[in-house]
Amino acid sequence: QAAVTSNEIPIPSALSLYFHIPFCNSLCFFCACNKVVTRRTAVADEYMDHLYQEIQLQGALYDGDREVVQLHLGGGTPTFLTMSQIKRLLQKVDQHFLRSTNPNREFSIEIDPRTVIPESLESLKQLGFNRISLGVQDFDSNVQQAIHRIQPPEATLELLQHAKDIGFESINIDLIYGLPHQTFETFNRTLDLLMTTPPDRLSVFNYAHLPRRFPPQRRIHEKDLPSSEEKLNILETCIHWLTTAGYSYIGMDHFARPEDPLAQAQLNGTLGRNFQGYSTHTGCDQVGLGISSISQIGACYSQNVKELSPYYAATNHGRLSVYRGFQLSPDDEIRRQVIEQLMCFGRVNLNSALASTQNSPETYFAYELQVLEEMIDDGLLSIDDSNTIEVSPSGRFLIRNICRVFDVYAAPGSESRYSR
Ligand code: SF4
Repeated sequence: QAAVTSNEIPIPSALSLYFHIPFCNSLCFFCACNKVVTRRTAVADEYMDHLYQEIQLQGALYDGDREVVQLHLGGGTPTFLTMSQIKRLLQKVDQHFLRSTNPNREFSIEIDPRTVIPESLESLKQLGFNRISLGVQDFDSNVQQAIHRIQPPEATLELLQHAKDIGFESINIDLIYGLPHQTFETFNRTLDLLMTTPPDRLSVFNYAHLPRRFPPQRRIHEKDLPSSEEKLNILETCIHWLTTAGYSYIGMDHFARPEDPLAQAQLNGTLGRNFQGYSTHTGCDQVGLGISSISQIGACYSQNVKELSPYYAATNHGRLSVYRGFQLSPDDEIRRQVIEQLMCFGRVNLNSALASTQNSPETYFAYELQVLEEMIDDGLLSIDDSNTIEVSPSGRFLIRNICRVFDVYAAPGSESRYSR
């Protein structure tokens, strides 16, 4: 129904497609993704057959002239697939959707450098991908052993250089801090090595050790984890290091070269943020395909089942495998806008956010403004007479806590759980 409604608005939004490829060759102990670890490449054939069926089902829901301006293969490990499987996937997309040829389109794929040789990058480029993201996490061999992800720096850097040489735009590198045996010295060495071939973007994620929730993490020994002080040290050093090297801090663990479209979008006010992260294509309807993937069509969110068997059963019966969904209320939409503005720009005008209502910030956000008082006292943000919240440089590193104040679904009291 949300898809039908989205076709009926005068100028329907462009589309963003996400494909979840859940397979991985081996298990990284820190991983919290929805994945299937196997060495049997044949299992992907069965999955892809069902994914093609879902492409057909989903494609039928949207008007044929709605351009796909964003397409992303994530996982798991998308490069678990053979090049011919990826090619066939895109052929299926072209049969049921309209892929944009605009130079601003973003067709990206997550790459596990352990599974890709430089020549494969050329094939991906020929297939239309213009952006890649390489999983690195850390170059230190002790860390790599402890997380069960052996990845020689030389091979990764060679791949990165080759991607640059053949003209991939916005090459992203994922790092993680807080992993076992990491210190700020080891992390600095990783950054030093990386800067011999500097990427366009860096995502530096915080490792959250939750072994009860994510069983693979039980293989990581708590005694090997850096202390909170060391983690903070790593993060501070990393931010200092990267900003000194000329990267812009976008926010929420993301850095980009000033000329990168992400940094440019932040400067010109067009940056967006959704459940997949920061985006230069705001306003797209997002269609998630494959197990566990999430769609967002207007104010409606839905998620596919997370297991293979119910996914196969649903598609075999010609049904989408959506198992849960959520329709935002007008209040949710206001809060989404406030949170997105804070995450993208560190600033939001509450009068503008409430423009479609008859309410003033003083009444509508009375509770939130009261909670923010403590953060104002701590120098994390300020609020001026026009009801504009401006997050301070130190507040940007606690942006999640600030945003949580406006999140009515967050655990009560969690907004004040930050370390001064
Ligand atoms: S980190 Fe990536 S490659 Fe490793 S198990 Fe998780 S999804 Fe697979």
